[in-house]
Amino acid sequence: MKYYDKLIFEFSKEGNIGYSLPRNRYSETPLLPSSVAREAPLPLPEVSEVDVVRHYTNLSQMNFGVDTGFYPLGSCTMKYNPKINEEIAAMPAWNSIHPLQDEDTVQGVLEVYYNMEKSLAAITGLSKFTFNPCAGAHGELTGLMIMKRYHELRGDSARKKIIVPDSAHGTNPASAAVCGFEVVEVKSLENGRIDVAALETLLDETVAGIMMTNPNTLGLFETEIKEIATLVHKAGGLLYYDGANMNPLMGVVRPGDMGFDIMHLNLHKTFSTPHGGGGPGSGPVGVAKHLEACLPLPHVVKGEDGKFHIEKENGTTAGKVSGFMGNFGVILRAYTYILMLGKQHLRSVGQLSVLGANYIKESLKDVYKLPIGGVCKHEFVFDGLVNDGAHDDVPGATTLDVAKRLLDFGFHAPTIYFPLLFHQAIMIEPTETESKETLDSFIEVMREIAKEAAEDPNILHEAPHNTPVRRPDETAAARNPILKYQDAI
Ligand SMILES: *Cc1c(COP(=O)(O)O)cnc(C)c1O
Repeated sequence: MKYYDKLIFEFSKEGNIGYSLPRNRYSETPLLPSSVAREAPLPLPEVSEVDVVRHYTNLSQMNFGVDTGFYPLGSCTMKYNPKINEEIAAMPAWNSIHPLQDEDTVQGVLEVYYNMEKSLAAITGLSKFTFNPCAGAHGELTGLMIMKRYHELRGDSARKKIIVPDSAHGTNPASAAVCGFEVVEVKSLENGRIDVAALETLLDETVAGIMMTNPNTLGLFETEIKEIATLVHKAGGLLYYDGANMNPLMGVVRPGDMGFDIMHLNLHKTFSTPHGGGGPGSGPVGVAKHLEACLPLPHVVKGEDGKFHIEKENGTTAGKVSGFMGNFGVILRAYTYILMLGKQHLRSVGQLSVLGANYIKESLKDVYKLPIGGVCKHEFVFDGLVNDGAHDDVPGATTLDVAKRLLDFGFHAPTIYFPLLFHQAIMIEPTETESKETLDSFIEVMREIAKEAAEDPNILHEAPHNTPVRRPDETAAARNPILKYQDAI
């Protein structure tokens, strides 16, 4: 055990001081009445500043992030987050304001919301956006609330069902259920696309809409999208677009032009704001013209006087979905990203993310099973190894083993066992921010692992060999996490 593997509590020594609070300049008496004040001091570790700095710096190095290495986590778009975003977000002009300040004093902030709305409308082909949702799944729920409100305002109360493809991201059926809809699944065909004939049989006056993503979760473009949009609209339903991974389409195709009525984007995926660890995020929701009145409030508008205002009430809104207007710091980082790239280079994002994914797929498909061939978009799915090395009493190497082994080589694992359509799914999304050299090293390592599996799968069964944590019991870690020092000793 290295000395820094200890918990911060284990460094504690009575009397050590890491930080002293400034003296209270206003009063000698405590600010809290004794009825609510703590009776005994908090049992905090007593450590010096250098102990704290070393402890947390070492801890950060035991982790993996997009600043430390390649992170091909499918459906998560772990692109590099340019540091200019952080520089802009840290400017005092933004970081010392309060959401209850008078409109007149935050015109610049409101202008960012306004301009960002115009940019996203141009990128997606939808007409109006709200920035209030704080995550992708929160955006889905918001979009479904808009759909519900739209049908309600038309006096159409029979629409209780949402159709979701079997390849959908798990948040889609979950959001529909949370919003009070009944979820109906539509199957995919052998080629990974929605079965349009099956969809047709599900459409009637009880369907509120369909939730889809295009390219779908297998990274495949739904070529029948025009036909699907026509059928759903003819049945009186709406089309919801899960745009969490808008990456491959940027500057190339627009969901609005495909016939989608409502969508969300994940600024914390496609638009390069950092993510992981539970937030903060931003899941703006866009709508087509006929749904504008149902957008949640508050919302920034530009008045005839040229000033920006916050609209707070209109009688038709789907309601309020967050305390104020979402995570401004995230929106600002995404706005910086859009302005830094501009129209021309946003298009390259889409093109390069598709090129990178296809390059990896074609370079590995002789050693990893590719269940659905052809050109993919920004990501693709393998279904385990071609030769998993199984023999006599030795079981073959699984997708989990491959993912664990990758960690030994300094790469983050791809998404595994998702989507649920294949038993050994490995979902790879390189993103456009990686160089060809990085993609080549990844391909080389993936080929090396396939060779190891074929020759001696036990190397993989026991991986990772070099990481601080090896194979924790993931279920126990999720169900019974040890979060307190007292529980750990
Ligand atoms: C990530 C993702 C979501 C959920 O976004 P969160 O911000 O994690 O809530 C929804 N749909 C798809 C396709 C995603 O990849």
